[in-house]
Amino acid sequence: MANEKEYLRTKEGSNIGKIVVDRDLCIAAVSCIAVADAMYQLDDQSKVVVTDANAVDDETLIMSAEACPTKAILLFDKAGNKIFPK
Ligand code: SF4
Repeated sequence: MANEKEYLRTKEGSNIGKIVVDRDLCIAAVSCIAVADAMYQLDDQSKVVVTDANAVDDETLIMSAEACPTKAILLFDKAGNKIFPK
């Protein structure tokens, strides 16, 4: 069962409208936090949560999702199309 949490992104000029974290896939590798620590935190279950969906630019956000070894971070454009992972 997917255990996904959605975070809306409203950053001006950004093409990314939504960040989804699949909590079942998150293994607390913290690679995403290493890339964009202004955006993420581990919660008390050692799963990543987005604390500020607008904290970083698109390039850094995409890099943080790419850094996740289990692809637990999914990115969607403003129209709702998945842009990562492809
Ligand atoms: S890199 Fe992936 S597995 Fe690691 S904390 Fe971030 S979302 Fe979770």
